[in-house]
Amino acid sequence: MQVLEFDVDALVSALPGTKYRAYTLKNFRQTLQIERLSEEQKFEIEVVGHVLPFRTNNYVVEELIDWNRVPNDPIFVLTFPQKDMLQSHHFDEMAAVLKSGTDKQKIKEVANKIRWQLNPHPAGQMTHNMPSLEGEKLTGMQHKYKETVLFFPSEGQTCHAYCTFCFRWPQFVGMDGLKFAMRETERLIDYLVEHREVSDVLFTGGDPLIMKTKTLSAYIDTLLEADLPNLKTIRIGTKALGYWPYRFLLDRDADELLELFERVVLRGKHLAMMAHFNHPRELQTEAVKEAIARIQSTGAIIRTQSPVMANINDKPEIWERMWKEQVRLGCVPYYMFLARDTGAQHYFSVPLAKACEIFRKAYQKVSGLARTVRGPSMSADPGKVQVLGVSEVNGEKVLALQFLQARQPDWVLRPFFARYDPEAVWLDDLEPAFGAERFFFER
Ligand SMILES: *Cc1c(COP(=O)(O)O)cnc(C)c1O
Ligand code: SF4
Repeated sequence: MQVLEFDVDALVSALPGTKYRAYTLKNFRQTLQIERLSEEQKFEIEVVGHVLPFRTNNYVVEELIDWNRVPNDPIFVLTFPQKDMLQSHHFDEMAAVLKSGTDKQKIKEVANKIRWQLNPHPAGQMTHNMPSLEGEKLTGMQHKYKETVLFFPSEGQTCHAYCTFCFRWPQFVGMDGLKFAMRETERLIDYLVEHREVSDVLFTGGDPLIMKTKTLSAYIDTLLEADLPNLKTIRIGTKALGYWPYRFLLDRDADELLELFERVVLRGKHLAMMAHFNHPRELQTEAVKEAIARIQSTGAIIRTQSPVMANINDKPEIWERMWKEQVRLGCVPYYMFLARDTGAQHYFSVPLAKACEIFRKAYQKVSGLARTVRGPSMSADPGKVQVLGVSEVNGEKVLALQFLQARQPDWVLRPFFARYDPEAVWLDDLEPAFGAERFFFER
């Protein structure tokens, strides 16, 4: 096998700066197009950016954002902080501190105080899902569903840009004790030897592809060499195709990365890229199409997922376009998620009933090849809960739901019902239907 060649010159002429350049609070005012924003809008970015993480880059700014549509452009909203992402009293508090002159310590205190009010660790991530081995907590891993272990390599805990809705936001703003990390692949291997039920290891972050290939291969090659018969699939959760496709094309170690992918496949393992795309815009550049083709040439399969979010992609047409384009490019639509109950959820949340309608209307328009997608799904404490739709039983309007993944495997695919509530945005907002006191999975 040999990884696919591509036309370097054509790509470089498409984007003069194919060298990665990050934009953060410190330097975003240097992006050329930013002059289209008023001073007030720039200040708003600073206020929110002091609480929630902010990082974007030259590819996102120059190739993805349509500056004629700013401030409503979906990719702009996806990476630039927006005023309404903070509750107004939080916004006013931070704005006042920034205006009063900049005592760094005070800014930090206020930022942290606000952050703690934004539910920084939802769905019991810090408490329920951390596995242990011989009495020792494995802080860089999560094991919630039987078949799949999540692994958080310590060097892979940032991203090429930050999504404003990210539920891993606390680790990007340096909130102590919230960073998952594990340096030693050894512990992971020991764990997999003990847990034969695990078939999938999912490298996640942040974005593991922020790592140099050398670092990533230290993890993956070690895992391959351990030759674990139960390990069938290596998954890599990544947003690099959306935020920095040059990772697979022009970065100095891009070819080595693709060779690493090939090694995984040649070892007889399934290599799954769990690619995060939020909007069809991210699938349109030459760079992303080349990158997808190169990844596929290694034998890896690209599966796609995204949350449904107000102000970014809460229309069926957007999902229809996105799924169709993904299938055309040979990718497999996989999950539609609901915005998690953390950070700026009030800004992004789409009511469950509405999300269902978006899903249904888009699903009806695509061929069976795109109907591999499942959703809308909440990654809640007991499991991944799919909202099936609105129905009526004996005169009572209900929401039908089921688990796609659950802490208890036996809970999966048992339909259950909640009282219809058009405003509910999360499992916690729902009450059991038919006068029941609790849902079947609650003690
Ligand atoms: C989503 C998720 C997985 C993977 O679930 P699949 O349905 O197999 O893709 C694994 N662990 C956790 C904690 C998850 O949230
Ligand atoms: S790419 Fe993923 S981990 Fe990174 S900021 Fe976006 S949602 Fe968060």
